[in-house]
This record gives sequence, C-alpha cells and structure tokens, in this order.
Amino acid sequence: MRIEEKFKNKLSNFTEGNTNIFFYWKGRVALFALLKSMGVDEGDEVILPAFTCVVVPNAILYCGAKPIYVDILSETYNIDFSKIENVITSKTKVIICQNTFGLSSNIEDIKALALRYNLYTIEDCTHGFGGLYNGRFNGINCDAAFFSTQWNKPFSTGIGGFALINNSRLIDNIKYLEKNKIKPSLSDNLSILVLNMARKLFVNSFTYWFILSFYRFLSINGVVLGSSSKDEIDSIIEPVNFFKGMSIAQFTLGLFELGRFNNLLEKRKKNAVVYTDFLKKHRKTCVVEKLFDNHSFLKYPILVKNRNVFFDLAKKNKIEIGDWFISPLHPIEKELDKWCFDDNKYPVAKEISRLVVNLPLEKKNIGNVLAFLNENLEFII
Ligand SMILES: *Cc1c(COP(=O)(O)O)cnc(C)c1O
Repeated sequence: MRIEEKFKNKLSNFTEGNTNIFFYWKGRVALFALLKSMGVDEGDEVILPAFTCVVVPNAILYCGAKPIYVDILSETYNIDFSKIENVITSKTKVIICQNTFGLSSNIEDIKALALRYNLYTIEDCTHGFGGLYNGRFNGINCDAAFFSTQWNKPFSTGIGGFALINNSRLIDNIKYLEKNKIKPSLSDNLSILVLNMARKLFVNSFTYWFILSFYRFLSINGVVLGSSSKDEIDSIIEPVNFFKGMSIAQFTLGLFELGRFNNLLEKRKKNAVVYTDFLKKHRKTCVVEKLFDNHSFLKYPILVKNRNVFFDLAKKNKIEIGDWFISPLHPIEKELDKWCFDDNKYPVAKEISRLVVNLPLEKKNIGNVLAFLNENLEFII
C-alpha cells in the first residue's frame, strides 16, 4: 500500500471512517483547496472569526474573495453565533468556524443557519484534531474541515495539512484540483526532515525561548523552512509554489506521530484539568468545563495583565508560555485593514488578544509551570 493510503487509513480512525482526505504542504493550502472546491471566486464573501491566523484570510483573498469577520465569545475564543446572521449578504458563500485552542464553536446552530441561507460550512480544525463535539470527532460536522500538522499543532509532520470532505458534492471538485498540486521536491523532503530533527534535538525548556525567536527570524527571512514566509505576513498575494502537496517525508512522520497521538491527547487533557483546578482555586478565568467535555486541549489559554512583563518573567524562569493571538490576525500587528479587518469592530477579539497567553499541556510534569503561576498570581485575570 502506498504510504499516502496508509496515512489516510490511520487518520480515518479520527474521522469516523471517512477517507475523503486530501493532503497538502500546509493547513492553509488545504483551506485554499476547500474554498476553490466550493466555487469561492472574485467578489464572493467568506465569514470567519475575528480571532484567527492571518493565513486564513489570506486563503480567502487568494481566491479573490473578501473575508468578513465576526467577533468572538470570550468563553470559547470562537465565533459569536448571534452575530453571524447580521453579516450575511447575497455575496456570502461560506462560513468558517474554528476550534480555537481545541475548543468547539456552536456548530449545530451554525449549520442550521448555513442551511437556511444555502451556504457552505468549513471547520478550521487546526487546533482540534482528535477532539469531540457532541460526541462526534471535530471535522466531521461541517461540509468540510481542514487540519494542520505544523509542529505546534495536535500532531506534527514538521509542517503540513489536510482537508476532510463530508459533503459528497465537493469531492469531484477537490479531485479536479489535485492535478494542479505541485509535487514536493527532494529538497522539500530534506527540509522537512532537518526541521524535524532540529526540533527534537534542540528544543527543550532551556532553549525554548531562544529557539522560538531564532526560528521565527530565520523562517520569516526565508533561511529555513518555516510556518510563514515574509510574503504571507506582508502581502495578500498568493506566494509562488503555494499550491503544493504533501511530501513522502511528511507522510512518514505523520504515520509515526499518529501512533503516539492518543497518549499525547490523554496527557493534554489531564494537564488541562490540573490547570483548571488551579485557576478555579485562585478564582481566575479558566476554560468552562461543562460546555466542552471532550475537546482536545491543544494549549491552555489564560488571561494576564502586563503581558510583556509576564513574558519576560517566563523567559527568565524558562517557562514555556505560548504567545499565540497577540493580535486578532496572528501574528500581524499593523495595517490589519490590508486583510479587510476594521480594528474598531470586534471589541471582544481585540480585548482577548491583548490579554491572552497559553500554557503548555504536553509536558510530563507541569509542576514548574504551576509554581511559576503561583508566584505570579497578581498578573492572572
Ligand atoms: C496554524 C493555523 C492555521 C494554518 O495552519 P498551517 O498548517 O500553518 O497552514 C490556520 N488556522 C489557525 C487557527 C491556525 O492556528
């Protein structure tokens, strides 16, 4: 059996047996393929949460369509369902909802609304692989979903992503696009292996902060293979060689990493309970457990005051605090209007992105993180 088929079969344990899975160089490319398969084109509009990665509106803009943002709910960090209907127009084609930090959106309501207006739904499962919503796997509920296997997503192939199609009407369209997919080169394969090795060898608590900034510097400047190139955070024009498939190196890593995934997920869930108990005990904001029993907990979000000082303290103490969503269109901090984002329209997203940081979940021992939080309680909201 080809390695691609093997990987697909193993993944289907997390998609209720659905094998309509299509592989790409990154998650954002999978989103682009989905939008194309849904016929998103010049002048169309796509609804998405105002709290996401810039690569999501980029994929919409590459289709010639316009991203239409909707504010989020502070409890779930996901799209506020009550505000979606207001922004639907005759140009709307798709609603994208997200699994921020692993938490689910109000998918049942979103699907019902989409049905009424004849819109497609896409679930951004880049944080939510392996989690459940109403007893069903993330990704299975909307017309389609996309996943990321970038190194700090639920399981890693260095970088990478795939699309899952649930609405059979889309399958022929996405298959048609397959012939345009650029085949990864030998050097693409090697870059993946080098990235993976470097990460395994060098990243630990002691080096985390240093390597994070060094890696971001190198990848933004195109020296090493990274999550986002300068093109993607400076402009809204599709980079050359964007529509690339997944390499053999990625399939191989993916197969291996999936074998360890359930253990990893259990560890994340266990640690999430420990953080929740700690935050509750100190009357701080925590993830509301009763809403989302079975979500996948990729990272644990908390809110802090004086975030820069808090980050500096974490650096000094070698605590691996994450800095996702320092802006509503992570990691863009300036000129958000280029992505059609009006900075005054989404107060919740704006406030949350001013305060949020995330805690690591996959460590065997989070004792040092808890001790750090305990010493710095006055920062935590
Ligand atoms: C990481 C991420 C993506 C994109 O995934 P890539 O594989 O890096 O392209 C999309 N949406 C969200 C919310 C993400 O965090």
